[in-house]
Amino acid sequence: MSTLALEVEDLVMHFGPVRAVDGVTLRIRQGSVVALVGESGSGKSTVGRCIVRLLEPTGGTVRLADADITHLTRRQLRPHRRNVSIVFQDPAGSLDPRLSVGDIVGEPLRLMHRKDISTKVSESLRRVGLRPEVAQRSPHELSGGQRQRVSIARALISEPRLLVADEPTSALDVSVQASVLNLLADLQRDLGFACLFITHDLSAVEYLADEVAVMYLGQLVEQGPRSRIFGVPAHPYTQALLSAAPVPDPAEQRARKPVLLGDDLPSAIDPPSGCRFHTRCPVAVDTCRTVIPESRVIGEGGHQVACHLVDDNGTGPDVRTGEGVAR
Ligand code: SF4
Repeated sequence: MSTLALEVEDLVMHFGPVRAVDGVTLRIRQGSVVALVGESGSGKSTVGRCIVRLLEPTGGTVRLADADITHLTRRQLRPHRRNVSIVFQDPAGSLDPRLSVGDIVGEPLRLMHRKDISTKVSESLRRVGLRPEVAQRSPHELSGGQRQRVSIARALISEPRLLVADEPTSALDVSVQASVLNLLADLQRDLGFACLFITHDLSAVEYLADEVAVMYLGQLVEQGPRSRIFGVPAHPYTQALLSAAPVPDPAEQRARKPVLLGDDLPSAIDPPSGCRFHTRCPVAVDTCRTVIPESRVIGEGGHQVACHLVDDNGTGPDVRTGEGVAR
């Protein structure tokens, strides 16, 4: 059996003229966490929805463990459903208000005709830090943080190999975001599932992700081990995102100068020619407007970047300091 939990090859998802995802290649090893990062509108949630097959991709392939699920019908997908789950951003919208928490959490097992569902529901609720009595309650009686714990309990009850967590904390109060993030990290370590963690906030993944993939306007611009992306980011967009992410040290935070990208994300209907980032890139040159940069490996751990100004050894500009950096 493959050591990969997920293999996405040249994924394309177009909605009519909107090129939401345009050639994304991504792999997640069994038991590891990959963060997919980018601004809203970059297409990262669409990638997540293609992986759990809420959407049928326009092109490319999605393989879960060893199975190509890209174009399976609903019926054909059924045996694969237990291998992958998703947690959405807004727990209020994703939990059916007519059902009890117990029915919601147990639903995946009922669809699999499993026995002993109520015992499993109690176990699953305990695992996410809720008392088993919560099973009798209705989702609207719970706080936002508790509801997201219910979503996580439901997602993990079938013991999936892969969890897609789509901005799982961004709709929650700041005060509970950290506890839900810590819960996900603990569960991932204890249960060993692979995870695609989708977020607009790079700082949220610094302690959770093994690898980071950075998405801009439907494409990946940089990916690699967490230590490389945080330590020696090579793409100007990654550098700009990092410069804007808050850091815990107040002195360091005060000394920071975020790189301002100016304009909003361009439209995915008519993306810029050449490098899609050229309209906002502080160091763009003429070539960037006409030639599409290829993604190339520039360093250890398969660190890849798509930028004309970064050479094969990883040397290139850092827009945070305005200087050239060797990586
Ligand atoms: Fe900027 Fe050009 Fe690199 Fe794109 S290819 S990130 S526009 S320098």
